[in-house]
Amino acid sequence: MRIDRLELDFFRNYVHLDAVFDPSVNVIYGDNAQGKTNLLEAVAYLSGLSHRARYDRELIQFGVDHAFLKGQVFSRERDFVLEAELHRGARRVLRSNGVKLKNFAEMAGTFQSVLFCPEDLYLIREGAAARRKYLDDCICQLRPRYAQALSEYKRLHEHKTRILRDSEEKPSLLDTLDEFSLSMAKAGAVLIHYRAHFIKRLRQAAPAIHGDFSGGRERLNLRYETVSTVTDPEASPKDIFPQLLAHQESHRAAEIASRQCLSGPHKDDLVVEIDGQSAKSFASQGQTRTAALSLKLAAREIFQQDTGEYPVLLLDDVLSELDPRRQEFVLNRITGGQVFITCCEDDRLPAMLGGKVLQVRGGKLV
Ligand code: ATP
Ligand code: MG
Repeated sequence: MRIDRLELDFFRNYVHLDAVFDPSVNVIYGDNAQGKTNLLEAVAYLSGLSHRARYDRELIQFGVDHAFLKGQVFSRERDFVLEAELHRGARRVLRSNGVKLKNFAEMAGTFQSVLFCPEDLYLIREGAAARRKYLDDCICQLRPRYAQALSEYKRLHEHKTRILRDSEEKPSLLDTLDEFSLSMAKAGAVLIHYRAHFIKRLRQAAPAIHGDFSGGRERLNLRYETVSTVTDPEASPKDIFPQLLAHQESHRAAEIASRQCLSGPHKDDLVVEIDGQSAKSFASQGQTRTAALSLKLAAREIFQQDTGEYPVLLLDDVLSELDPRRQEFVLNRITGGQVFITCCEDDRLPAMLGGKVLQVRGGKLV
């Protein structure tokens, strides 16, 4: 899988960009605040990832009312032209080979990328939401059914939260509560099933990478933490469903009293341990970085096993903070697919990496 060409109009600090990429290594090189991360963000966006912006309007250039992205992509032995039109105050329009797509998930089904950026340290350090997002992003790209269940679940969760919140003033709202719990348990069972299977595969891939990365000194362990009544998260959604429903029923009174959704996979976590200790609480800076990178590179390997192709790997600001041994390790691990790596002008990395060097300055290729 690869992106051969990218065109941007009014995306972040790019007024206009037309870039042709190398099928293997692309080094995005430049001073701070010139547009390196923005370029990676544009590629990630075309693969259905929106990691930095909470709203599309943040991606549109200041003072302009629309932005346009176009990527020529080679995926599953076929050429695709992916386009995204962003407007302030209107819904985005996505197209693949000129045909309108229903949603972001459809685009993610065509073109896949794995991104590693400095914010990914939160993946280890922060609360469970960051790790759920990692799981959701990975599985959505692999399984359209998961993406569907996830957006359904999120919609129901929001709605049920509103019902619980407003029920004090309007108790009749609670009449619909059980119906929402039932639908949430249905969608939730699908989420748990797919998360459990993905984590099973992560457990095969990530510890080996982390082990190599740390020169065999550290042992990474991953564990899925979900709703306590679920006896086997890998079971079929049909079998998980009644167990989820039972948990919701036993929390019904507490949910009404606290006016919050207390039961369901929106509280799931992927527990990361290094040498038996919780990474969230105890990992050092370097261990945190290593563990986060191992999770990302493991996801890339799982994609490859699944689809026969490596997703495009986007590495933002990774190498410059690693010691030479770890840099070399990363460089050895990323061969095979197309890679984009950003680095600053004072780095000696471009020479080390080979491939195509694209220098950006002030939102332009130099
Ligand atoms: P660093 O080396 O510091 O990570 P970078 O090259 O990755 O720098 P980017 O994050 O790509 O820098 O940002 C480049 C510039 O784009 C920043 O100065 C930022 O203020 C600007 N920028 C961000 N969003 C927009 C926007 N919507 N419109 C115009 N400019 C923007
Ligand atoms: Mg940057």
